[in-house]
This record gives sequence, C-alpha cells and structure tokens, in this order.
Amino acid sequence: MKSSNLGYPRIGENREWKKALEQFWKGQVDESQFLQTMESIRHQHLKKQHEIGIDLIPVGDFTFYDQMLDTATMFGLVPERFNWKGNDIPLSVYFAMARGSDTAHACEMTKWFNTNYHYIVPEWNNAQPRLIENKPLKAYQEAKRKLGILGKPVLIGPYTFIKLSKGYKEKELPALILQLLPLYEQILQELQNEKVEWLQIDEPILVTSISKEEMKTIQFIYHQLHEAAPNLKIMLQTYFDSVDWYQELIELPVQGVGLDFVHGGENNLESLLTHGFPANKVLAAGIIDGRNIWRSDLAEKRHLIETITSVVPESKLWIQPSCSLIHVPVTTKKETKLDKIIKQSLAFADEKLTEIVFLARDQHGVDDAYFQENQQIIHTWKNHSERHRQSVQQAQKNLQHVSAKRKSPYSIRQSVQKEAFDLPILPTTTIGSFPQTADIRKARQKWKKGEWNEQQYEQFIQQQIEKWICLQEEIGLDVLVHGEFERTDMVEFFGEKLGGFAFTENGWVQSYGSRCVRPPIIYGDVEFLQPMTVKESVYAQSLTDKPVKGMLTGPVTILNWSFVRDDKPRQEVCEQIALALRKEVEALESAGIAMIQVDEPALLEGLPLKDHDKQNYLNWAVRAFRITTSTVQDTTQIHTHMCYCDFASYLEDISKMDADVISIETSRSHGEIIPVFEKQTYDKGIGLGVYDIHSPRIPTVEEMAAIIEKSLQVLDPGQFWINPDCGLKTRSEKEAIDSLKNMTAAADEIRSKLKETIR
Ligand code: GLN
Ligand code: ZN
Repeated sequence: MKSSNLGYPRIGENREWKKALEQFWKGQVDESQFLQTMESIRHQHLKKQHEIGIDLIPVGDFTFYDQMLDTATMFGLVPERFNWKGNDIPLSVYFAMARGSDTAHACEMTKWFNTNYHYIVPEWNNAQPRLIENKPLKAYQEAKRKLGILGKPVLIGPYTFIKLSKGYKEKELPALILQLLPLYEQILQELQNEKVEWLQIDEPILVTSISKEEMKTIQFIYHQLHEAAPNLKIMLQTYFDSVDWYQELIELPVQGVGLDFVHGGENNLESLLTHGFPANKVLAAGIIDGRNIWRSDLAEKRHLIETITSVVPESKLWIQPSCSLIHVPVTTKKETKLDKIIKQSLAFADEKLTEIVFLARDQHGVDDAYFQENQQIIHTWKNHSERHRQSVQQAQKNLQHVSAKRKSPYSIRQSVQKEAFDLPILPTTTIGSFPQTADIRKARQKWKKGEWNEQQYEQFIQQQIEKWICLQEEIGLDVLVHGEFERTDMVEFFGEKLGGFAFTENGWVQSYGSRCVRPPIIYGDVEFLQPMTVKESVYAQSLTDKPVKGMLTGPVTILNWSFVRDDKPRQEVCEQIALALRKEVEALESAGIAMIQVDEPALLEGLPLKDHDKQNYLNWAVRAFRITTSTVQDTTQIHTHMCYCDFASYLEDISKMDADVISIETSRSHGEIIPVFEKQTYDKGIGLGVYDIHSPRIPTVEEMAAIIEKSLQVLDPGQFWINPDCGLKTRSEKEAIDSLKNMTAAADEIRSKLKETIR
C-alpha cells in the first residue's frame, strides 16, 4: 500500500506563513524577500512530509492566500474593477482581490463546504478565461528540481470550481464548462509532457446532492480530460462526505478514485462492498480523520483496511487522510501546557501523517512498539475518568422525553412581556459587544501575566461596564447590554469556564487568508461548574432602570466552533452543552435578569452537505437551543442573534427556536431578505440589522430610516426591533457611538411618523 496526503497546512509550526504575509502587507519586507520566505516555508513542508515517509506528496496545494483564488487567477478571472490587463497577475492584484484596495472592494468570501475554512469566490461576469500560468506544473517542477521530490500536483476540478464561483446564470453553465475545459486540457497535457505520474483533481462537489443531469456533465468533463492527456493518471478526489453516484463515479475514465472513509464513511464502505471496485483503478482511501484532532485507534483502522482489501488489492490501495490537512493544526509537539493524557491522545497534521505511513507499511508484527503504544494510549483515553461525568449523563437521560418547550405559547408570552417591560414601539438595542479597545486588551494582558490580581481586573471591567451603561443611556437605547469586555472570544470564554473543554497554546488553523483560529477542544462530558456571566450582568443591571440583556453563546455555535470528541454523536455533545447553558440561563433569571440573549451565529454553519441530512440536523440543533432557553418564566424574554445566514431558506426552522426576539444580519442584503416576509410570515419579535458594523463608515440617519421604512412594509411595527447587524467589538468607540446616535435618531423619526399616521 502507498501512503498519500491531500494537502498540508500552509501556516507553519509557528504561524510563520501568517507572519510573512502580514509583514509583506505592511510593507516591512519587499516582494523578493517575501517570495523567498514563502519558498523556504513551502520547501520545509515538502521535506517534512518526505521525511515522515509519505509516498505521494501533494504539490501545488501551497498558496499565498487561498487555493480557489489561485485557480481563479490561474485562469485570468480577475473582475474588471481591479483594472487588470496583461499576461501575468502581479501580487498587488492577487491580494487586492482577496482583501480589497482603495478603489475596488474585495471578492466575496464564503465557507468551504461544511468546514470553517473560507475561500475567495471567483467571479465570471462574462470574463473570458485563459491560461495565465500552469500552477500545478510549476509546483511540480520546483519540488523536483530543488528537492528531488516527485510530487503529486493538486488541482481543483472544473465542476467544483464553476459550481463554487458566481457571476453567471444557471443556464450559462454548459457554456462556461466549454470555455474552461480547453484550459484544463492544456494543463493536463503539459503535466503529461513533464512525465508527471499522478494528478490529484479535487471534486468535493461530488459529495453534495448531485442530480443525474449533473452527473452526466461530470462524465462529459472527465471523458474530455482523459482524451486530452491519456497517459497522465488522474486521481479523482472527493472528501467531506460519501458519494451518491458511486457506480457512475468508479466507471469514469480516470485511473484512481479518492473516497472519504471517515465522514460519510459507512455509506462509502457499503457502496464499495456492494458494487466492488474496478481492478485497473487505484482506490485512495481516506482512513485518518483530516478534520479532527484525535489520535486514531490503529486496531480499528487496521480492521477498516482489512475490510477494504477484501475488495481492492493492496497494490491498488493508497492510505491517506480523509481530506486536506489544512483543517487541523500542524503538530502537537508545540503543546507544553496540556494535560499529559490529553496531549498524548491528540494527533495534528504531522502525527496523522505518521499514522498513515505506519498503516500503509503495516506488516503486522513489524514496528509493534508503535502499535502497542497507540493501543495503550487509546485504552487510557477511553477510560479516562475525567471524560465521563455521571451527573451529566444522568441529566441527559432525563431529557429524553422532554419536549423542551416554553411554558406558554408566544402569543401569551408576548402580552405578559409587553406589560412587564413597557418598551416603546420599535425598541432599539445592540447585539452585545462594545469596542475592545487597546486599553482593554492591555488590561487583560496584565491580569493574565499576573501583574494585576483578580480584583484589579474585575474593577477595571466594572469601570468599562459603567462607562458604557451611561453612554447607552445618553444615546437613548431602550434595551442595554453590559458590553462583553471580559471576553476575548465568544466560544473560548465559555469553554474556559465549563467542564470538559481543553485549550491548546499553538493549535492554530487557517480560517481565511492570514487569519487563524484556535478552536477549543471538547474532550469530555460538558458540565456546568459555576455561573459564568451573572456577575457582570447583575452589575450592569444595578446601574440602570432600563432592561439589560444577559448575553450567552448558544450550544450549537459552541459545538460548531470547537474540535469535538468523536466517541459520541455531535448531537449528544450539543445536548450536554445545552444543558450546561440552561443552568446559566436559570442563574441569570434568578439573579433578576429578565432578558437573556443566546447567540447562535453558527447554527446554520453546521448544516450537512446533503439535502436529505439537513432536516435531522436542524431538528436537533433547534432542540438544543430550546433546551437552553425553555425553562424560564413567561415574563423572561429570550433573544437570539444570527449572522451571515441563509435566513430566508430556513425561516420555518428558525421560527421553531421560539425565541421571543431574534436579530439577524441583513444590512448587506436587505434587498434579498425583505421580499421573504411578503411570502412567509414570521410572528415573533425581529430586528433586521439596520447598518453594517463591518465598515468604519458612519451610517446616516436618512439611510437607516429608509431601511426601517422598507422593513415596515412587510413587518408589523409591533414586532420590529432596531439594532446594528452584529456586535460592535471591532469598531472604535467613536464609530460605535456616532453610529448608534444616528440609529436612535432614525428610530425616533420613524416613531413620530407612525404616530402621525395613527392620528
Ligand atoms: N454577542 C456577540 C457580540 O456582539 C455576537 C457575535 C456574533 O454574532 N458573532 O459580539
Ligand atoms: Zn453577528
């Protein structure tokens, strides 16, 4: 068996890739220095994979920003607003597409399938693609000449590329394929001339719900490509889920098919066992989870490989990760503070590659020490007492037959809340966070380093809260917040206070461009230990007569933004988080907080890739939200907030969350969201963000008034709330204050207009 990899994290052990990029953007290094640093990082990564013993090392997966952007620029798909002409694409244009420039806004960015990686969306808009540069060829030649490594070039497949781009109508798709195919053919021919053995073509779109028509298009594409370069072996690579058109897929004129045996693995395995596999093809089997961070149970993996080899001979089998390793951190070696038992149970990219090499070379009995050690660690991990909390499991059992519904239906809650809060019509509020200024960050550093004690830090936070309660009253907001000054990250903050979470020092993964995140690790049963937000909320409420919203991150968002244990279904882990947060909600309520917001910005991010799996996910996700929020009194008002979501397509499920008030991000897509309410009704409180907090620009009273009026054509004034479209933590204080003043002025203007019409 051969060992293979699909893609290696580009960020580097010490995030040197990120640092090099940011230095270059700031003008601290010139272009040639930058290119040199990048080359040395690239070579280091190839050498490392070679040393670990990977047979098929991917080349061309490295990028200066994003692989979709690389593909778009390779085909000269540069939107007109960047004013580009010529035969090569300078770095300035490449980065302007990614990040915007003084004269042109950046290309859109969106999630790569169901991962937390974001890619740059290519734009067609009648562009004529042409081959600017054969990037896979260049990558292959570089690795060969400079390192003597005969790599496996990687290329995003034509169908996935077109489906993920924008700026064309559905009916134009066949024409675009015809435009693009000759360019792909040329790339393949040049690789063939170079005597490249294998080319990996990524078509993850194949794991989504593909129609029969679409499958025909894919057949056409791969027949064309095969004819163009018959001696180049194509590994048609899928990942992130199982393929629905297995039989058609394995009959395509390619020399290898790559399948994910981890995510959607059961379905793929069943297809393999039922329909077999062509004797003349190679199966690239994604055996090791490329999206999670746990050490594999090698006995289990051995068993899986044995099952596969009952169909595919070892000589035709590659062992590889389930997808590119860009979704996991680089190495566990850098973790010095993690608990020993947790640390030894983790495998990041390098450790995963080591597992792969072991499995590919596995001759039972040889290198037994590595295998025995693995089994020892797995055994310890499974039985580690800290991971299994009796009380949590019991609470979860008790939940089985609970409907997780509020005491009364919304109509009743609405009238008791109306009386209890006596808010003006079109109440104004914010989403939760206020600017995290340099002072606040400095204060947190001092406290973390021990220069400040607990009390000093707490006092500082209280001062911030006090300052902003006064400001909010001055601005004239109706429902206030404490400002979230004590939080860095909305998931980390709660993870640090709940049982069952661990944090790495260096477990970074790329989110988009140079931005990296360090997701918390959920390793054990999640348990509420002590109140997490009550102190700050109660303090804020003590300073004002206006209601102050308590502020929590919801269970589904915490789940979706963490690395999650894989010995329990995600749904169960989510339920545990929901139960823990419910205790926080109850603690807030008992402490006199009468409005509680539970944010779920990532709820729709967790949607499965296949249509037929979506409803099941939505059912348990919505239920988790309700587990957290349903035990309160009718008079307690539950708020939620969601951003960047396809609210329109999932209105019904979102409504089932049964929050009394929802605020959603819409200011960048008002045109699209408002017509939705003409066709469907939403009967609870709702705030459509009236301005975009991502821009430093101060929105005018007039433009916000216009947005409110437009919204009121489809929504009842009795249900409408006025708020920005997300938290304000990234804005400056002045920007936040000026914008909010204009927002309350706009609200006043519309209120008086409404009064006149009533008269
Ligand atoms: N309450 C959070 C904030 O205001 C919500 C953030 C989010 O939606 N991503 O920062
Ligand atoms: Zn938001």
